Amino acid sequence: MTHKISVLVKADVGRDTIDLYVSGCLNSETANVLAAQISRARALDPAAPILVDLTGTQHVDPTALAQLRATVDATVVDFARKHLVDVRFVGPSGKESCAAATDAATLPLAAS
Ligand SMILES: [Zn+2]
Repeated sequence: MTHKISVLVKADVGRDTIDLYVSGCLNSETANVLAAQISRARALDPAAPILVDLTGTQHVDPTALAQLRATVDATVVDFARKHLVDVRFVGPSGKESCAAATDAATLPLAAS
């Protein structure tokens, strides 16, 4: 089994924010997908604040989330020369692992 991520982008006319609703798993692999979607959302309206809603996720790797935040923050800093774009994260409510985490690298270390 592999971790999958799904991102729904809502950029309604008349709203001044772009919302990204994330479901599935956020780990080191899928974080890159989400980072790309945040970049695409930003391109839709460079001045619009972006809300990344992680409350629908099943699984969030805290390290991957921290790296994603760092990536997004770095992008915002670069972008700030032209616009200041606010990216907010909501959630996550997901667990730190899921049933797809069956490979040895992601299994929690068991003390014997
Ligand atoms: Zn997962």
